[in-house]
Amino acid sequence: MFNVEKIRQDFPVLEKGIIYFDNAGSSLTPEQVLQKMLEFYHDYRANVERGVHKLSQKASEEYGKAQSKVANLVNAKSDNEIIMTKNTTEGINTVANGIKWKKGDKIVTTILEHHSNFIAWLRLKERYGVEVEVVMPKKPIAQGLLDAADFGKAIDDKTRLVAVTHVSNVLGTISPVEEITKIAHEHEALVLVDAAQSVPHVKVDVQKIDCDFLAFSGHKMCGPTGVGVLYMKNEVMSEVEPLTVGGGTIEDVDVDCYTLNETSKRYEAGTPPIAEVIGLGAAVDYLGKLGINNIEEYEKELTRQMYEEFCDIPRVEVYGPKPEDKIGILAFNVGSLNSHDVALALDVTANIMTRSGHHCALPLLKRVIKRDGLVRASTYFYNTSEEVNKLAKTVRETAQNLTK
Ligand code: PMP
Repeated sequence: MFNVEKIRQDFPVLEKGIIYFDNAGSSLTPEQVLQKMLEFYHDYRANVERGVHKLSQKASEEYGKAQSKVANLVNAKSDNEIIMTKNTTEGINTVANGIKWKKGDKIVTTILEHHSNFIAWLRLKERYGVEVEVVMPKKPIAQGLLDAADFGKAIDDKTRLVAVTHVSNVLGTISPVEEITKIAHEHEALVLVDAAQSVPHVKVDVQKIDCDFLAFSGHKMCGPTGVGVLYMKNEVMSEVEPLTVGGGTIEDVDVDCYTLNETSKRYEAGTPPIAEVIGLGAAVDYLGKLGINNIEEYEKELTRQMYEEFCDIPRVEVYGPKPEDKIGILAFNVGSLNSHDVALALDVTANIMTRSGHHCALPLLKRVIKRDGLVRASTYFYNTSEEVNKLAKTVRETAQNLTK
């Protein structure tokens, strides 16, 4: 498959004895990505699409290449469908604030959503009188598995948009996005997929899903912070006004009018995060070399191991379904301990980084998990079986020591 020990050398922080299991929060960045960003600063540091001189030309060319790489990664029909954003949140907000809503429109979303793919829709309820229906997982709901049939019941002819996460950032469950999209399109509703947790770990094909929008972040897939992607189907672009306008977004301007650019450039107002976009292109190359299918297979094995080792630990409660129905994430609590105390203990005693708290998914924690926090260990391709073992061993000791 691939040589994990060799791969780990690309991530210098791992040589410092760190065990990094906060990958769903943000991944580490390999040297290759950093070097590519430095190349921009060293060799062709200029603005894009704004100069005829050779540095600007070179920067624009590299920026365009990165956009093409991202388009290929998700199998977009054209580069024009790829909009560079700041992060997933900005991509979702671009859609939420760009559609002309009217009172009575309906949005269907789910209880699994990250706040980024939830509050953006609730706000429309307050602003425009849009109705928001929240789909629950099928029974037993604590497994967090969505059933497309429930979308069949929730989506009707008033539905303008369905917003659903591809992979839950808390439970790692995978949503049936293709089936959901099919149902939505039968009712002429648009579909937005939050792919922040899927694109880094599994093959995502926008043409296969047939969604209208798909948002993800560079920083969770070996790219730098400060850059994300909004895929927008060419056919729906005319329905979405840009969030911001300014330099780079127009076709023409006069003293009393302007015409927006017809391409996706209309959504990239002002100077973009050039080094970051170029760095994201390098991250796509890096993941491509490893092979996204290999990454998925490898992580499935780590998830299975983690699940099995955790299920054996007294006083530990694991949330969500069996490993076959999820990817790369294990959510748990130790008795009634506060999740932050557990995460802190893992860090202090064994240099293990996990995320704790509500994971920006309060509706899910309140209505389904019924705890105010949990610990999340999330994997990536540079984690090892030994690390999983060390994590489980440390959690076992923590459970013994702290719940005595
Ligand atoms: N959606 C999901 C499913 C996520 O996991 C995250 C990040 N935790 C986001 C949206 C928001 O991503 P960002 O902070 O990069 O905008």
